[in-house]
Amino acid sequence: SATGDFILKAERLTKRFGGFAAVSNVDLAVERGTIHALIGPNGAGKTTCFNLLTKFLQPSDGAIFFNGRDITRMPPADIARLGLVRSFQISAVFPRLSALENVRIALQRQRGDSFDFWRSEKALNRFDGKAMAGLDEVGLAEFAATPAGELSYGRKRALEIATTLALDPEMLLLDEPMAGMAQEDVSRISALIARIAENRTILMVEHNLSVVADLSDRITVLARGQVLAEGSYEVVSRDPRVVEAYIGV
Ligand code: ADP
Repeated sequence: SATGDFILKAERLTKRFGGFAAVSNVDLAVERGTIHALIGPNGAGKTTCFNLLTKFLQPSDGAIFFNGRDITRMPPADIARLGLVRSFQISAVFPRLSALENVRIALQRQRGDSFDFWRSEKALNRFDGKAMAGLDEVGLAEFAATPAGELSYGRKRALEIATTLALDPEMLLLDEPMAGMAQEDVSRISALIARIAENRTILMVEHNLSVVADLSDRITVLARGQVLAEGSYEVVSRDPRVVEAYIGV
């Protein structure tokens, strides 16, 4: 059911570290409203690709378009403001601050406010509605006042997603949302991602292939920095080159 309406496009995306091309001539097109997974064996270039798309790394070559706009040379904060937001890592969570304060800080940051903890409560409170909506969407509303460091691992990961959602993204990039999770949390976060995708686009790097199979509309398989295959799970999982790439490591 391809509509040809691509929210994110990368063309001939390339990243060289010294003489080594970690990502080489990668074409990627993510259709609006879908869940698209980026998979591949270790060292395939997934993380590098992800960092290029959100401009945490500058591409050596190639171009990136978001909603038809060339964002290749745009800084990460500007890209987030356009609606393309990556999930924040757990390391970015402030353990002593409450869940709500953590989301609020991400909002302040996006709005370009400095970290001013001595700012009047009133000024801070204007972010609370959005922050609370983010927490509510991931089922963390009742933990709004809980210090982030006291949340379970699964809930910390949900807090990362809440932080991302509070920024009003049209598209989310999720970096291994299931990493290190117990099965119970995997099911919960899977359901959450499916719900989030009802009115947004998601690109995720994920190692858990059963999650990828369940959630993804489309999959791009990377190997050695290049696109090896692309299509539905049914198609790519039967591709002999994909099978070989996974076994051959
Ligand atoms: P994946 O996420 O698929 O495991 P990565 O994108 O992390 O793959 O890495 C792809 C390749 O690029 C690997 O061979 C890795 O060692 C190399 N690489 C990644 N980052 C750097 C870097 N900063 N400098 C040099 N080589 C790097």
